[in-house]
Amino acid sequence: MNAFPEHERLTVVVAAFNEADSLPLLQPRILAALEDAGARFGLEGRVLYIDDGSRDGTWEAMCRLAAADPRIGLLRLSRNFGKEAALTAGLDRIEHGAALILDADGQDPPELISRFIERWREGYDDVHGTRLAREGEGWVKRGTAHLFYRVIGRLSKTPIPADTGDFRLLSPRALEALRQLRERHRFMKGLFGWIGFNRIAVEYQREPRSAGRSKFNLWRLWNFALEGITGFSTAPLRLATYLGLLTALVAFGYGAWVIAKALVFGDAVQGWPTMMAVILFLGGVQLIALGMIGEYLGRLYMESKQRPLYLVDTWLPPPGVGSVRVQGVGGESHAQREAPAGGQGQ
Ligand code: UDP
Ligand code: MG
Repeated sequence: MNAFPEHERLTVVVAAFNEADSLPLLQPRILAALEDAGARFGLEGRVLYIDDGSRDGTWEAMCRLAAADPRIGLLRLSRNFGKEAALTAGLDRIEHGAALILDADGQDPPELISRFIERWREGYDDVHGTRLAREGEGWVKRGTAHLFYRVIGRLSKTPIPADTGDFRLLSPRALEALRQLRERHRFMKGLFGWIGFNRIAVEYQREPRSAGRSKFNLWRLWNFALEGITGFSTAPLRLATYLGLLTALVAFGYGAWVIAKALVFGDAVQGWPTMMAVILFLGGVQLIALGMIGEYLGRLYMESKQRPLYLVDTWLPPPGVGSVRVQGVGGESHAQREAPAGGQGQ
């Protein structure tokens, strides 16, 4: 069935959640880039859109795009599973060739695809876009993002390049490696870093969103940061140990001083404020340490349930592509070759 050698197909993977307004703007740009890549590198270009449980007509918009172009495949998840799971679902379904991950909102310019392919052809497995500027994003987001990359860079042993998102090209073997990582708490930037191989950055200017609004508010970003740190470092657990040691040391010194004072000056009962301070301080330290353990324990609990990473509602592969079942993958793939024009999933 596979008429194309590994180096001759590229699938652009786009996860979308409530992006009905952005997709029609993005699609012509992707197709133009793929035409260009086809002419320059003799590549067969494909597009795979994943509807991550949108509620605003994104699926209908996708169906219209797919009806107009046979190179487009569509995947609809049973509900909103989050960007990481949606991307995983898409990458699981790429049988041949490389994958290029792109945001649906036009913030990752498809015009760069040819530059990514050039690098891939030079032998790189993971070509990632590194943002030089972040247009249209407030200083809070830029500041916290900056801080986050520095903290995780220090804490984690896995190399996670700074200012790098999911915008990247993965070679067939990098894709294969990534598919083996089936953890439920998915911090994709870390997973990309973990697989290794030959990596190179392509710098680009990050544009503002073309339409719609960002799904990542500060609270989601905070949780995302927690995911990254707990998923790729156990340093917080060690911090609890050191904090405990330090407190014990201080307590020992203070105890010695109290005993010495009692021996020299007698034992007049006093020091209620000191006692309260010590009790409250110790209580606080213990709760923080418990909380840290809880963060890891909770994740362990979720992993132990072994639930699928996502569930598929509808899978409409482009013609000529069957459904793939990757072992141990969450979500059954129902191969349904219906005409996508109907705009309705199962
Ligand atoms: N996205 C998704 N599922 C979600 C949230 C976001 O598939 O639950 C997609 C979204 O449609 C977009 C990409 O992930 O294509 C990046 O999201 P967004 O632009 O909101 O994030 P930001 O660029 O602000 O970090
Ligand atoms: Mg965006």
